[in-house]
Amino acid sequence: MSPVFNFSAGPAVLPRDVLLTVQDELVDWHGSGMCVMEMSHRGREFTQIIHEAEADLRKLLNIPSNYRVLFMQGGAHFQFSMLPLNLSREGDTVDYVNTGHWSKIAIKEARRFANVLIAASGEESHFSSIPAEASWQRSANAAYLHYCSNETIGGVEFPFIPHSEVPLICDMSSNILSRPVDVSKFGLIYAGAQKNIGPSGLTLVIVREDLLGHARPSTPTMLDYSVHADAESLYNTPPTFGIYVAGMVFKWLLEQGGLAAIEQVNIEKAALLYEAIDASNGFYTCPVEKPFRSRMNVPFMLHDDALDDAFLGDAKAAGLLQLKGHRSVGGMRASIYNAMTLDGVQTLASFMREFARTHG
Ligand code: PMP
Repeated sequence: MSPVFNFSAGPAVLPRDVLLTVQDELVDWHGSGMCVMEMSHRGREFTQIIHEAEADLRKLLNIPSNYRVLFMQGGAHFQFSMLPLNLSREGDTVDYVNTGHWSKIAIKEARRFANVLIAASGEESHFSSIPAEASWQRSANAAYLHYCSNETIGGVEFPFIPHSEVPLICDMSSNILSRPVDVSKFGLIYAGAQKNIGPSGLTLVIVREDLLGHARPSTPTMLDYSVHADAESLYNTPPTFGIYVAGMVFKWLLEQGGLAAIEQVNIEKAALLYEAIDASNGFYTCPVEKPFRSRMNVPFMLHDDALDDAFLGDAKAAGLLQLKGHRSVGGMRASIYNAMTLDGVQTLASFMREFARTHG
């Protein structure tokens, strides 16, 4: 079978070596005679798996000791509600930055529980850029400031970490582990696993300890961060298989040289695609202004959308899969997370040049 390159935005491609190890260990994990899916989440074997996963993640992100790592469920969507319930009180104001689709959904949910102030919005530029930080309007006494570091659909990525006197909260679902990040600048970081971490069903939360224990009294038990922290992510049955695969992805990243090394590859991969777009004389365009272009999700349009089907069909025939843009914006999107190889991106860039040459 010739190689296939999967550009899905998520669930997304996983490192091939990790999948091969999963296959190898599937029916008998490390001589236990059991599949990880069959093990008690409180047994000796799984305890080792979850402890190693956390230790490796701490190494990768250099997580300070006053932060807790929580392996949760419910996707980033659950976090949209957990944040205001745990980190604000009734009547509080919370500040949100709106950089596109996922920011808006987080804002909509927060409005159910708190007064939301939009500190900044990219709406005027049709979400093609991020307003300069100096222009942001911050409320005097916000309970926290929330932003999305990478808009998976719009392809807008923060090239900086905002300054904040109040706890800084970040939805890092689609660019976590793609570059080094100073965790100590954040109150809480969350991410759905299905892009750069592992299978869907697992959600990662990294939270500063002093933010635990302040959930509103009406908060459902399962939505209280401190319940999960106290139980070391085992309050209820966690997504054990997802944690196991994530742990292997963390080990794979450490073997690649960690986040500084993977960042260099990610810079190179993104540059290849943006170059193919920018050098196409308008055959392809990217709606995002250069300083804010995502290294993870590269959205682009063909100059004539009547060519979209031909592009997708030819790409598929060439083994380049899942390039269709999100239904809300159309066009194309190439998601090039950590596990997408340089070879895959080079193949796509060459395909794009050839398609433009023959259809231009
Ligand atoms: N935030 C971002 C940045 C995302 O990309 C996504 C999913 N694509 C979500 C939130 C929602 O994640 P989930 O489906 O895991 O709830």
